[in-house]
Amino acid sequence: MNKHIVVLGAGYGGMAFINTILPHIPSDVCISVIDRLPCHTIKPEYYALASGSLNENKVKAAFPIHSQVDYILDEVEEIQVAYHKVICKNNEVAFDQLIVALGCVDNYFNVPWAEKYTESIQTFGQAMRTRKKIDQLPPGSCVAIIGGGLSGIEFASDLREQHPDLKIILMERSNEVLSTLPDRIRKYVRQHLEDNSIEVMTNVSVTMIDERAIYYGPVQEWMEYDMCVWAAGIKPNPVASPLLAYSNADRLTRIVVKENYELPYYNDIFVIGDCASSEFAPSAQLAHIQGKQLGQYFISVWEGREYLPEPIKLKGVLGYLGKKTGFGLVNGNVLLGKVPNVIKSGVLWMHKHHLG
Ligand SMILES: Cc1cc2nc3c(=O)[nH]c(=O)nc-3n(C[C@H](O)[C@H](O)[C@H](O)COP(=O)(O)OP(=O)(O)OC[C@H]3O[C@@H](n4cnc5c(N)ncnc54)[C@H](O)[C@@H]3O)c2cc1C
Repeated sequence: MNKHIVVLGAGYGGMAFINTILPHIPSDVCISVIDRLPCHTIKPEYYALASGSLNENKVKAAFPIHSQVDYILDEVEEIQVAYHKVICKNNEVAFDQLIVALGCVDNYFNVPWAEKYTESIQTFGQAMRTRKKIDQLPPGSCVAIIGGGLSGIEFASDLREQHPDLKIILMERSNEVLSTLPDRIRKYVRQHLEDNSIEVMTNVSVTMIDERAIYYGPVQEWMEYDMCVWAAGIKPNPVASPLLAYSNADRLTRIVVKENYELPYYNDIFVIGDCASSEFAPSAQLAHIQGKQLGQYFISVWEGREYLPEPIKLKGVLGYLGKKTGFGLVNGNVLLGKVPNVIKSGVLWMHKHHLG
């Protein structure tokens, strides 16, 4: 009987796995990929989908075609480990081996009503909803963006270019935006935001959000808003949480896995991408490498070879500040201005066009 491998999530990790194994799939193996979207999407560009600078077709890439791979368009609701089954909204899918690559969701850190009253750029559907709401805002409306990390900064800069008529406020909990990057980058970005009339509030900790105002500390204050976008943090997709019964969580609540990405206490279930623990912060780059490594592990098992993974080396970070400028830390070198913007466009273009 054929062996059935099921891949949950056709994002960065899931598609890197599929692309790696594609030329090597043994004849007795069939693969199903389940995703709520009918194509792969370039998640690092969701901010541009939301701001309106990119059309939805620009962030979509077709799935690769192979006679032993089928794609199921469905919402994954539950993983039933003991029954080797995945329950989706419209299907039940049995598996012999399972790859979980379901990415992440927003982390609201228990801030009351944050989930209810804020918009998001975390999923394709949420980014599209955010864009629709922005398009309906009257001129002069106040958009508050919570979170001064990479996605908050990219979104704020692009929103400014698309909507010069909006008041944009960026709220950050630490004392500077992009707090993990070198000082030169932080200063450059801060200057860019100020030059483009994006008000930056640092050292503010949001404590509650209701339908009209954002409440924040350290001294209790509040501020009215017309629209609020949450970009303050992420956590692994909760659909994967039951797998913690067969593993442990790291400090970011990601699932600890073995060197071959298998659960430590359950065979044949593998976790990659934003759901999987790593010494590195979650990123598309990391998810892609993990998907590739997992593919190489599968190929080595099929070919009866020992699996010898190479250590993960990340190239760095690249960020857009609108369409013309950007910033980056690549192999330890700080890049500012047009160059990092162009490199990032090239990296995303290559990813999109080498997928199908
Ligand atoms: C605005 C923004 C900017 C970013 N910029 C960068 C950047 O510049 N560089 C970088 O390296 N990283 C960046 N990231 C992070 C990066 O996109 C993620 O770390 C990466 O996509 C994670 O890959 P993954 O495979 O774990 O999950 P994803 O790529 O998110 O894939 C998960 C897949 O699972 C599907 N899915 C989820 N839940 C379900 C369900 N219940 N049922 C069915 N399908 C489901 C989704 O549709 C998706 O296709 C950015 C993220 C955002 C939001």
